[in-house]
Amino acid sequence: MLARAAALEAIAGRRFEVVVIGGGITGAGVALDAASRGYSVALLERDDYASGTSSLSSKMVHGGLRYLRNFDLGLVREALVERQLMVQLAPHLVYPTPFLVPSFAEERRDRKIGIGLNMYDVMATTRVGRGRRDFRAAKEEDEDLYWSPDRHRTIDHDEVLELVPSLEPRDPRDAYLFYDCQTDDVRLVLTVLGEAERFGATMLNGAEVTEVLSRRGRAAGVGFVEAESGERFEVEADNVVNATGVWADRIRAEVLEEEDVPRIAPSRGTHILLDRDDISTGSAACIVPAGEGRAIFALPWYGRTLVGTTDSDFAGDIDHPQPSGADVEYLLEAVNDFFAVSLDASDLVGAYAGVRPLIATGDPRKSVDISRKAELYETSSGMLTITGGKLTTWRRMAKQTVDRLVEREGREAPCHTAEIPLGMEARPADLEAPEGVGEEAVAQLAFRYGHAARAVLDLAREDPRLAAPIVPGRPDLLAEAAIAARLEQARSVADVLLRRTRLGILAAPQLRDADAARPVAEALAAELGWSRRRAKREAEAWPAAAAEAGVDPAATATV
Ligand SMILES: Cc1cc2nc3c(=O)[nH]c(=O)nc-3n(C[C@H](O)[C@H](O)[C@H](O)COP(=O)(O)OP(=O)(O)OC[C@H]3O[C@@H](n4cnc5c(N)ncnc54)[C@H](O)[C@@H]3O)c2cc1C
Repeated sequence: MLARAAALEAIAGRRFEVVVIGGGITGAGVALDAASRGYSVALLERDDYASGTSSLSSKMVHGGLRYLRNFDLGLVREALVERQLMVQLAPHLVYPTPFLVPSFAEERRDRKIGIGLNMYDVMATTRVGRGRRDFRAAKEEDEDLYWSPDRHRTIDHDEVLELVPSLEPRDPRDAYLFYDCQTDDVRLVLTVLGEAERFGATMLNGAEVTEVLSRRGRAAGVGFVEAESGERFEVEADNVVNATGVWADRIRAEVLEEEDVPRIAPSRGTHILLDRDDISTGSAACIVPAGEGRAIFALPWYGRTLVGTTDSDFAGDIDHPQPSGADVEYLLEAVNDFFAVSLDASDLVGAYAGVRPLIATGDPRKSVDISRKAELYETSSGMLTITGGKLTTWRRMAKQTVDRLVEREGREAPCHTAEIPLGMEARPADLEAPEGVGEEAVAQLAFRYGHAARAVLDLAREDPRLAAPIVPGRPDLLAEAAIAARLEQARSVADVLLRRTRLGILAAPQLRDADAARPVAEALAAELGWSRRRAKREAEAWPAAAAEAGVDPAATATV
């Protein structure tokens, strides 16, 4: 990614065919789609890339089994097709995980789940219009095809325990086993942005759009404030795309009709992370009952157990959603019951909450029932707003948006994103580790960066101080902080700990003090030319940033 100063110079005062507001997965997708169809594109992100909902998801690339309950069949089918594509396009970053729905002792297996899983299997065909039988036939001919999961099946007591040893005290009878996919949501955003840049898009974070410029009633660009200098700049554009997720209804063109604007009904989802010594789901995920017919997930993620999520209407500050005490209690109660343990908030290694950009329908039902469907709005000024949807369906949302641009301009420019690889895969065995960098670190780098992991390893080789872990016992390297500043526009300790790595939510208790953040601040200082005093100030700012994100509920409770 272009360094910030160069990106600012390339954007400010220039003219583009498309300007995208928002650097979450949706904005990143629109930038990639438009750039790969030949548009000149600038993307502006207020804070950091993926700092909104796109870093706070459950990290699943999935169809969404539970949406079958609402008969959202189109949505599930669409997401399942995208899931398969993502595994194909980013095999290092999107991977299948077995999910279990266990049953215990005298409990009867829930037949409705079996029916749902049958539908899920049927809908997960390999391509639109291509059935499983065609897939099998083609596979026999050794044709290169999209990844496709095995059908769901029932596994017995022994196999359940082999996959999820922590269930032993519950003596499970058997379980349904099906597949869904997982990822690192931030890395997905950064990878899509990297591809967008490869096609010529220019992007800048720390660039808050404060107004949509209009000429003769048409949206004709944006005014934005650059965070470091506080200066205001303008960028002209033939097309303005608002991809600001839960903030979508705050971006307004001067000429706007009320009915043009989507109304966002924010819904908060809380997650907690646990040490695998407390609960390990092995390499599988579990669907955990959570009372009143609701269910949550317990997922293996970066060597921790990720538990989530809740889904409740949210009237608080959408800029800084925090896990509520009641939500944390609710999640702990569900996992304590399910795994027969007794954990409390002091056992958490991290927590976070995200706000879903659900589109209000005026329906009095709760947010849990509101469809996750994406919606595209066009104001009378011509500004397009794309919001709603899911992490999984970013490519479709981007296509829908750019298709509209193409249509209204009468261009001949088909969408290519189904064929554009996202990053480049590298197997851990292909990466050469310098002295002091262990296998676990190499495997994590291969997952996170694919082929680009080489840049991190080269840096660790050049400067052995950067081969050290950021947090003792965790595989993330200080070299990643340096690379984040050099190649990914990171400009704060929080950018590194919450997003470029995920240590802020994977090792929150180990990062309580500013001192623990000092090595990251120093690595950033060396790249960004900060003085020693500035590096100290940046490290000292970390505990407040962590508290604002609510990553360490036990620490907040004791303050
Ligand atoms: C708890 C939870 C769990 C979820 N789990 C999953 C899941 O497992 N799988 C799945 O597929 N989906 C999941 N989702 C949904 C998914 O995360 C979201 O649909 C998706 O991340 C939204 O992306 P976005 O780019 O539209 O919004 P965001 O990621 O919020 O991006 C919007 C961006 O716009 C920026 N912005 C705002 N105002 C301005 C401005 N004035 N100028 C410049 N930039 C601005 C923000 O800083 C932000 O970065 C989950 C959502 C939640 C809340």
